[in-house]
Amino acid sequence: MEKKKQAVKKACPNCGKQVDFDRNPFRPFCSKRCKMEDLGSWLKEEYYISSSFLDAPAEDSQK
Ligand SMILES: [Zn+2]
Repeated sequence: MEKKKQAVKKACPNCGKQVDFDRNPFRPFCSKRCKMEDLGSWLKEEYYISSSFLDAPAEDSQK
C-alpha cells in the first residue's frame, strides 16, 4: 500500500491565502512578501522597545 503524497495546504498567517506547504520556502507564509511583512511588523516593535530602552541611560553613557 502506497500513500500518495498530497500537497498540504495551509493558510498564510499574514494574508490568509491557501498555499502549498511542502514546497513553500516561505512557509508558513505564502510568499516572501508576506514573510517580510510579518517579520517587519515585529521587528518594528522590537526596535521600538529597544530604542526606548536605549533612550533612558543615554545621558550617563555619553562623555
Ligand atoms: Zn500571504
